[in-house]
Amino acid sequence: MIVMKFGGASLQDAEAIERVIEIIRGRLERRPVVVVSAIGKTTQGLLDAAEGSAAQNSKSALRAVSALERRHQDEVAKLLKGSALAAVSKAINHNFRELEKLLEGLVILGTVPPRGLDRILSYGEILSSIIVSGAMVDRGLPASQIDARRFMITNDKFGAASPLFEDTKGLLSTRVRPLLDEGLLPVTQGFIGATRGGATTTLGFEGSDYSATIIGAALDAEDVEIWKNVSGLMTTDPAIFAGARTVPRCSYAEAAELTRLGAKVLHYKAIHPAAAANIPVHILNSRKPAEAGTAVGIKGAEAITPFKSITYIRPVTLLNIFFDDQAGTASLLEASKLRELTALLERREVSPLITIVSGMRALLAIEAKYLEAASTALMEELARIGRIETERRRAIVTLVGEGSNGRIDIAARVFTAIKEIEVGLILRESSSTATSIVIDQADVERVIALLHAEFFDRAES
Ligand code: ASP
Ligand code: MG
Repeated sequence: MIVMKFGGASLQDAEAIERVIEIIRGRLERRPVVVVSAIGKTTQGLLDAAEGSAAQNSKSALRAVSALERRHQDEVAKLLKGSALAAVSKAINHNFRELEKLLEGLVILGTVPPRGLDRILSYGEILSSIIVSGAMVDRGLPASQIDARRFMITNDKFGAASPLFEDTKGLLSTRVRPLLDEGLLPVTQGFIGATRGGATTTLGFEGSDYSATIIGAALDAEDVEIWKNVSGLMTTDPAIFAGARTVPRCSYAEAAELTRLGAKVLHYKAIHPAAAANIPVHILNSRKPAEAGTAVGIKGAEAITPFKSITYIRPVTLLNIFFDDQAGTASLLEASKLRELTALLERREVSPLITIVSGMRALLAIEAKYLEAASTALMEELARIGRIETERRRAIVTLVGEGSNGRIDIAARVFTAIKEIEVGLILRESSSTATSIVIDQADVERVIALLHAEFFDRAES
């Protein structure tokens, strides 16, 4: 069997859903479990509605909800007719009335508790699964909708819940496997789950990929397919470099580094379950289903290029923390201060992209949005550990590829390629897959163009 996951952009309207159904039809003999995201931008709309309600801005909340309802009903009306339309339309209506009641609760509370937000956000995926499975049945496919909360059991970290793999695996084998054995096509939701006690949880934004690989690993799938509206993993972000090309293959380790350091192609948590169970993940384009896309976790003969892809994150803030103190106590001081620093970052849930400790100084590169979210309290606590110098509006550009491991020519080639750019830092261990460069955020486009020319657009010797 295989898992086929369709992202919100692949389900954005009736036409897109039609395409998805034909893609599934073409895979029937592989016995797919279908996992859907919310229809494009729905999750954001639900978030707006929740925040509007809590802020007692009922007008904006109502506007957000009725826009969502109209959109879902309009697309269904294009997909279905007669009694099939009536049934699905009624189910959608029912879900929106439930949603309104939950939002009314937020108006009274005046705040959005994480637990309530997860409940509200879950409607996006519930609605799309109703529509996709309804349209599949209408077109002669034996779809059977199953609520992911009946098997995706998670801890109670609302907003970023972690699946409890053994529980989930057990329930998938008793509740989903039998559907496959009966020749049915299970259609379920990504992103959402439930605690053991039955409270709705979500796995974090863009978390449907993670659902898909968890389900794939638990059911021992032959393949997991992640269908998007881009042609797989690219050599770099096509939005900032027009010459970007699809990367046919990469390893789990390469994909993990790329997603950790900015590539949006797959949710970063999605790699681990697939890698642990050794299940290939294919990233495919639902607008161009005949293209091969990218296969993650499949080895094969390929051109020996040092790198697979160049990714970036911006804005990034650099924190230089100086542990100055009387000379002589340096090493002792450093160890305890470092422990303090690590504990503080963990408590505040900030994970630096780069950490370098040298002598009496630590350098942390942190994505600016996380630093803002962690508030000024973090900065105050940091200031108690050491003297801080901050550099804002930086970016980290990272070249990733196992082919670069142990190659002594790479560092010189990187330096030479970007010699006219002011570089804050180059981080490269000869044994590692990633080479990171810290630069001004305004230089990202130029640096990527130069590195792409050096490492992707000329023949390797
Ligand atoms: N619908 C959710 C989101 O937009 C989950 C997902 O699309 O993967 O974040
Ligand atoms: Mg999505």
